[in-house]
Amino acid sequence: MNCKICKSKGKRTKAVIYIRHHRLALCEEHFISWFEKQTQRTIKTFRMFSKKDKVLVAVSGGKDSLSLWLALHRLGYETYGFHVSLGIEEWEFSRKSLEICQKFAERIGRPLMVFNLREEFGYSINEIAKGAGRKDVCSVCGTFKRYIMNKVCREKGFKVVATGHNLDDESALLLSNTIRWEIGYLGRQHPVLPESNGFARRVKPFCFFTEKETVSYAIVNGIEYMETGCPNAKEATSKLFKKALAMLEHEMPGTKLRFYKEFLKKGRPLFERELKEQLVLKECEVCGMPTTAPVCSVCRTLMKLKERC
Ligand code: SF4
Ligand code: ZN
Ligand code: ZN
Repeated sequence: MNCKICKSKGKRTKAVIYIRHHRLALCEEHFISWFEKQTQRTIKTFRMFSKKDKVLVAVSGGKDSLSLWLALHRLGYETYGFHVSLGIEEWEFSRKSLEICQKFAERIGRPLMVFNLREEFGYSINEIAKGAGRKDVCSVCGTFKRYIMNKVCREKGFKVVATGHNLDDESALLLSNTIRWEIGYLGRQHPVLPESNGFARRVKPFCFFTEKETVSYAIVNGIEYMETGCPNAKEATSKLFKKALAMLEHEMPGTKLRFYKEFLKKGRPLFERELKEQLVLKECEVCGMPTTAPVCSVCRTLMKLKERC
């Protein structure tokens, strides 16, 4: 298959990717420029940030977050990488992830900030979850990562955090929230979570790219990334939702994109209305971070852990 853009200019160049739902075959050069233009368009459409903002890019060492850092850097944004080292020893996961992020930061010549969970809190994420009697390591991990991100933004003066969530993540999350009718989560799911109550704005510039597109961008740009996912993700239910959507996408190309875009247009405004009356935040009595309870869930978890040790 040949590149559609090269073809329109009378050239024959082999395509490196075929984007089925856009019926678009592109060569390496045109795929990179298409990908970066789309990223820019999403940032503008949702007014995520501007060239005046310092953008904190949350990087895990995976293909999505490193691709995001590269695309934003190339688009001329002032980016800073931020990595949370979770202390996961299985497969040497955390050590390797950190190393990959550091190498990438060096490659693009941008600073990388690292928060080491074991050094700061004294435990790895698995120890925290186990000690607090929680089986769902991923949900504990999500809470801690959000907390740490907000804390760092507050201390270092960042107003925007960008994450590498892609369309596969967003549509799977949407399906999971819809199946459970999680009104609160449905009302909050959006490419931009506005800055409020001391929380930084959280943005997802890759939310309309499929995983195939982000992985292709990483490969054509020679990004070295963690190919093995996190060992704790083995049991994640999100995988099941991704599988179901992949099946639908195979039969009906464009399903994921339609599902997510139509939700943003028609579904979310209904749930958002319900949400407005909720959420009164105050300061955590222990750490001072915004929370709905007197003591935030991270402080509660750490306190529980200390009581048990
Ligand atoms: Fe954290 Fe779970 Fe993701 Fe691993 S898979 S980084 S434990 S949320
Ligand atoms: Zn081309
Ligand atoms: Zn707290």
